[in-house]
Amino acid sequence: MRLRRIAAADEAVAHSQLVVHEPEKQKGHWQELFERGQAIELEIGMGKGRFIIDMARLHPEINYVGIERYPSVLYRALQKMEALEREGQMPLNLRFLCIDARELPDIFAPGEVECIYLNFSDPWPKARHANRRLTSEGFFARYDQILAEEGRIEFKTDNRELFNYSLETAAASPAFQIEEKTYDLHRDEKMSAGNVMTEYEEKFSSKGNPICKMLLRRRRDQR
Ligand code: SAM
Repeated sequence: MRLRRIAAADEAVAHSQLVVHEPEKQKGHWQELFERGQAIELEIGMGKGRFIIDMARLHPEINYVGIERYPSVLYRALQKMEALEREGQMPLNLRFLCIDARELPDIFAPGEVECIYLNFSDPWPKARHANRRLTSEGFFARYDQILAEEGRIEFKTDNRELFNYSLETAAASPAFQIEEKTYDLHRDEKMSAGNVMTEYEEKFSSKGNPICKMLLRRRRDQR
């Protein structure tokens, strides 16, 4: 049964017009995919897609790309989009990529992305897996390759260890600086303004876990 479900997800992702296939061919030409030429923002590790779909509906003035490496998970976002399409509510400013985020510099040209959202990224608690964390030095170097001069990174998690590790790697990064941070987003009036919840955020905050958030920008001395 599970295998049949996975095959159905693979098939749906492979044939969906909302998923960008052979995305390397789009490098430097992402604007052409969308109805309007406007800023592009990514969510890396979007899971079932609640955040990026809500963001696309709230912000038609921005183009969004949701990235998820597992077709079985991305499929859930495609199902949400289908439901919205049936109601005539599907946002047209959203596309998906089924890739490992390590490939980002092959897919986006320098400066092509305005913002990267990292929401409840997998913590990879073992030290030997640290370079798989989406806030590791290697990933910050990849983000540096694709983000615009005024580009930013927004990271949310309820995992204190991952958050503190990410503050350290961000502080040591030659490309980015920490502009704002909070250990309790939902009680921080300024940082929670306009906050859009993710699936994991809903789940963990309803259990009483405080949500941490940091906002990073390019180092001023780099500009
Ligand atoms: N962002 C969603 C949320 O907050 O509800 C999902 C969080 S879930 C813990 C993390 C997701 O990131 C998983 O679906 C995982 O497959 C995806 N992911 C982890 N590493 C990734 C990578 N290197 N490239 C693409 N997706 C990745």
